This record gives sequence, structure tokens and C-alpha cells, in this order.
Amino acid sequence: MSDLDNLRDNMRRQEPSELARVAVTRDIDGHKLSLEVSPCSWLYPGYGLQVQITLHGGGGHAYIHNKELHFEKATMADLERMFDQVKLVPCKKCGKPAFDPATVDTNRAGECEECFMDRLNAELKKAQEKEDRRMRRLDATHRAQGYTHRIDAWIHGGGDDRQVSFYSKGKLTTKEVKALIRKQGSMKDDDFTIVTL
Ligand SMILES: [Zn+2]
Repeated sequence: MSDLDNLRDNMRRQEPSELARVAVTRDIDGHKLSLEVSPCSWLYPGYGLQVQITLHGGGGHAYIHNKELHFEKATMADLERMFDQVKLVPCKKCGKPAFDPATVDTNRAGECEECFMDRLNAELKKAQEKEDRRMRRLDATHRAQGYTHRIDAWIHGGGDDRQVSFYSKGKLTTKEVKALIRKQGSMKDDDFTIVTL
């Protein structure tokens, strides 16, 4: 049975208890938060109890995972106790409320959601610019050698998809490009673009 079949089977078999549907809300330092049980707690046997905590007003989510506590045995009192440990800190950049990383599972490291996303986007942009520069250098090298086109293709190999680029002298036909892509082990041969150098 595949993982997906297992998952479907678990969803059918385990009618989630009332605990799966409750949302506990609290006010912490004047900010509204809510806590809900994450579905993995009842979908995966032996997973333990995981709760998702939401800081309302765009503050994002954090989690607490208790591997010892099983969903079937958990009670409202357990949820309240998990909520007790949640603390907020002022964002280390702007002072807005942020999850205290010492009290919950979060990769925000004491930054508020907005500052974290700004930093993430800036890092992505920098990485994209670096990749663009690398591609332009590669294009220039190939153009100097008489290449006229670049083919960017996604290789769908069953696991993670990967992107590859080929250079050609003269524009290849669709049939030729598809053959190249299939040679790379891709199960899909029409996910490509051709760029004129
Ligand atoms: Zn901030």
C-alpha cells in the first residue's frame, strides 16, 4: 500500500475526536492568539500531539510538538497546558510581537512575521540575481563559441524535479529538444523554453 493509501485509510478509520475541531484562544500581552491541534496528530499513529499556534493580525504560526502525548489520550487540559508555555517577545528588529523561540517551535528566531518575510524575500532576490549573472556569463561564453540558442528544461525524474540548460548551434526542432530531455531521464518532455542568444 502506498503512503497515500495509508493516509487515506487513516483518515477514514480515525474519526477525529472533538479535540481536532477546537480552537483555544487567549490574550497574551494584549495580543490575540489561538491554538489548534495539527492534523498530523491524528493522521499518523505514534506521531504524538502537535499544536499550531496563530498570532492574529498577521503574526504567523508556531508549533509545539509533544511526542509523548498521544492524540487519543489528550484532553483540553493538555491543550491549555501547552498554551501556558507560549510566550511573546518584542521582534528584535522592529519591536512588534514575535513568538519567543525558547517556548515554541519556530524558525523566525525572535523576529516578527513581517521582518522574517522581508529578510527571506531579500535573500531570495539576492540568490536569483546571482543566478541571473551566472546565466548571462554562460550565455556570453557560448555565444562567443557560435551557439545561437539556449534550451531551459525541467527534468521530471520521479523524485525532485531539476532544471537543466542546453546550448545549440541553430534552433533545434521540438522533436530534437524532446529527445534531449528524454535522454536526461525525464518522464515529461514538453516542459521547456527556447531562448535566442
Ligand atoms: Zn519585526
